[in-house]
Amino acid sequence: MSRVVTERDFRDPRFRDADPADYEFRDDGQIVRKDRWEMGIRRIRGHLGDTRREFEIDDIVSAVEALVSTIEKPAEDLRMTCACIPNINRQIAANGSELHTLTPHHADGTTGTPRVLVRTRFIDPATEKLPPIAVATHCPFCGTKYED
Ligand SMILES: [Zn+2]
Repeated sequence: MSRVVTERDFRDPRFRDADPADYEFRDDGQIVRKDRWEMGIRRIRGHLGDTRREFEIDDIVSAVEALVSTIEKPAEDLRMTCACIPNINRQIAANGSELHTLTPHHADGTTGTPRVLVRTRFIDPATEKLPPIAVATHCPFCGTKYED
């Protein structure tokens, strides 16, 4: 081969023609594009079929919320550890709200019991990322341990 080896040839192909100013380190040490969140919203917008020239993020969130609300919830046939989740949901439904829950899906195809997610927040207001999810191991209302 007659081509001379350059410094570019040693670069990871993903970054061969990339500008370092467009990238940053993620918390886990991976190099990622700085605009990945914006590009993600634009990709979701594309999947929604929104072809308008201008849009706001709230438009996309509202469209996704409307789409998700049309998905039928299977909650009633789930095996529940206790009756607290549906009971509390009935009580707060008047406010147009419900508990955040997570239903584990196991590798063997079985489904675990729904459990309450605990809302968290960052104590440093300068932190601009989604707060971590905390899953309760026991029902926060009656204290029953969630079954696996
Ligand atoms: Zn309970």
